[in-house]
Amino acid sequence: MAKIILTGDRPTGRLHIGHYVGSLRRRVELQNSGKFDEIYIMIADAQALTDNFDNPEKVRQNIIEVALDYLAAGLDPEKSNLFIQSQVSELTELDFFYQNLVTVQRLQRNPTVKQELALRGFSDNEEENENKPGTPVGFFCYPISQAADITAFKGNVVPVGEDQEPMIEQTREIVRKFNTTYGKDVLVEPEILLPDNASCLRLPGTDGKAKMSKSLGNCIYLSDSAEEVNKKVKGMFTDPTHLQVSDPGHVEGNTVFTYLDAFCKPEHFAKFREAFIGKKSSFEFNSLDEVKAQYQKGGLGDSMVKNFLAAVLNDTLEPMRQRRHYYEQNIPFVYETLKKGTAAARAKAAQTLSEVKAAMKINYFDEGVLEELIKENEQKYPQSK
Ligand code: ATP
Ligand code: MG
Repeated sequence: MAKIILTGDRPTGRLHIGHYVGSLRRRVELQNSGKFDEIYIMIADAQALTDNFDNPEKVRQNIIEVALDYLAAGLDPEKSNLFIQSQVSELTELDFFYQNLVTVQRLQRNPTVKQELALRGFSDNEEENENKPGTPVGFFCYPISQAADITAFKGNVVPVGEDQEPMIEQTREIVRKFNTTYGKDVLVEPEILLPDNASCLRLPGTDGKAKMSKSLGNCIYLSDSAEEVNKKVKGMFTDPTHLQVSDPGHVEGNTVFTYLDAFCKPEHFAKFREAFIGKKSSFEFNSLDEVKAQYQKGGLGDSMVKNFLAAVLNDTLEPMRQRRHYYEQNIPFVYETLKKGTAAARAKAAQTLSEVKAAMKINYFDEGVLEELIKENEQKYPQSK
């Protein structure tokens, strides 16, 4: 079976380091491994509209931002089809047929839907609360639309963060239901590919509370300048019990260490030892385990660890900033890339849609089918000569 990747992001803001470790970094590795037959990366503008329908301009503006972040991160238009969801109308047709295969109750049980509804604060009783609207139906149903996105491409590998697990499970259920109901193995069950590093499953925001999310304003963006990264890291949440440098500190639940777990590589120790903000004698560590041990024992200040983290992040982000700058100077190329990727995505989705319609026997005007229909009904209504 062909190995096909489908994944994507909502254009609700620039991409951040949570997206990078949760999915984007892995996508680039998979793309460059040469082991995949087709790769589709979707900018989910239609999905973004389900909770931003009143602000289409925000979604429109962010399409180019996400595309620039993709190219900056190393997605290569020669190897991956970067496309815009709303321009592949076949996806909405699939979505419409899949809606019959899912119950309202099943959607209500979806833990990510529950969380996202709570996060957005939609009201359960909108008649009584004028300022708090209820849940848009489109938003409530987005797991079904996501199933359409994945299955349209016969995607069997979906590299995403942990919050997407219930969505992939929902998709697998839809695939099984479709294939058993319509008697054909048309759709393919996707496998989720989670980050292998636990700290990357759901990277917390700089506030240390919820997951880093564009909608919560707790992000370090891939396109942030070195100064912005330094400033955000300086303001980060650490261990509230670590008041004096000499106090023993906690690394669990300490966002600075979570980010180090996600980004620090062995070579960073040698690389930054010399340059270390004039304090080289105090940062003689050779591994993250050594840093953690010292912090837990006491005698290592937050500002020292934060300076190291900022250096590590900037080291990771600098090549991306440079690539982004290059593509910012080549905007026509970026749109051309999206147009080409979208054409390829449409061709693939159209093929799957025609197989779906054939399995459901709603392909009335396909070649051969119309003739059969006429014959069948002429027999039902014998023609008087
Ligand atoms: P929004 O707030 O608009 O929902 P978002 O920041 O949650 O935006 P999405 O576009 O919903 O981003 O998610 C895109 C991909 O990035 C998904 O695969 C998701 O699992 C992953 N992802 C998003 N945030 C994180 C995070 N903090 N840690 C790990 N992965 C993440
Ligand atoms: Mg999200």
